[in-house]
Amino acid sequence: MPNLLDHDSAGLEAVLLAWGEKPFRARQLLRWIHQRGERDFAAMTDLAKSLRERLVAEALVAAPRVRGDLRSADGTRKWLMDVGAGNAIETVLIPEADRRTLCVSSQAGCALECAFCATGRQGFNRNLSTAEIVGQLWWANHCLAEEAGIAPRVDRRMITNVVMMGMGEPLANFDNVVKALRLMIDDCAYGLSRRRVTVSTAGLVSGIDRLREACPVALAVSLHAPNDALRDRLVPINKKWPIEALLAACMRYLEKAPRDFITFEYALLKDVNDGPEHARELVSRVRDVPCKVNLIPFNPFEGSGFQRSSRDAVARFRDILMRADLMTTVRRTRGDKIDAACGQLAGQVQDRTRRRVRRESEATV
Ligand code: SAH
Repeated sequence: MPNLLDHDSAGLEAVLLAWGEKPFRARQLLRWIHQRGERDFAAMTDLAKSLRERLVAEALVAAPRVRGDLRSADGTRKWLMDVGAGNAIETVLIPEADRRTLCVSSQAGCALECAFCATGRQGFNRNLSTAEIVGQLWWANHCLAEEAGIAPRVDRRMITNVVMMGMGEPLANFDNVVKALRLMIDDCAYGLSRRRVTVSTAGLVSGIDRLREACPVALAVSLHAPNDALRDRLVPINKKWPIEALLAACMRYLEKAPRDFITFEYALLKDVNDGPEHARELVSRVRDVPCKVNLIPFNPFEGSGFQRSSRDAVARFRDILMRADLMTTVRRTRGDKIDAACGQLAGQVQDRTRRRVRRESEATV
């Protein structure tokens, strides 16, 4: 049975055309499903009765089932969502004075094995479907509107920004992520501006080039090191696409990007990548790329083997970048009490790589 959350506008039109319906029905359906959060086709009163009946019989609107809802004192909230076969993913709501950002997952687990990331540690199970990705946004809208006691409407957005910074590497699940992005920016669905939707990548160069053609949105790149020797260790995908190739892809991306800068994310790890020499090397490395640097004090998790940089080290690092005229922000740590901060999302993943076995055998030698 087709889950209509799986289809962007073009996909929905194709389904309806095959049913002998007019293409504009797709836009009507999108508004019902995504803007009003309606999943009962019988309630979609401006659709012909025959179409409603066929939808009731042959289609559904199904977001992942919510199994947990945790709130932190700073307002951050984390939903644990069941995606079947023992896998669960996490979605994080980050309210701020002027916006409500949703941090969305793209995979159950992650295959990239970045050294300092909890999701990478736990292994990889599978890509999420478009319905599972956009379903996180569908759910958040639905739930927040209901709690506020108002009917969801596109001009009263519950979620104002989306960052693809949850579990997984979005560009490794390219097709499903792009379909979800298209729904996020579609005026008949969530209607978010491209500037308010951010894809964050560990540096998949081919994916960056494809995204630039398929659906350019704001781009964040997880850099974390100023040279290849160190980045090879922290972000192993660097061995395939080293820093120079990555920065060249960023420059190409900027030609089509909705924002005129790339965000570089840099997690500060005590005594690993947080020295003044690293800051100076970073400055010289990214000098020619229009960018902002977002410093993320490392969020610890059990057995990570890394520590958060001291406040002084963070400030010193930031000051070196700022003195070199690099726009720099330090990300405020939020939601860490409920393990909802960057790199702490772990959900529940039935690992299909042999990662854990390998780690354990390494640990015993
Ligand atoms: N795979 C994508 C999306 C994950 S976004 C990517 O790598 O960009 C999550 C961000 O948090 C990334 O920048 C990631 O490198 C960073 N991160 C991961 N683990 C972290 C940790 N323990 N502390 C701080 N930041 C972390």
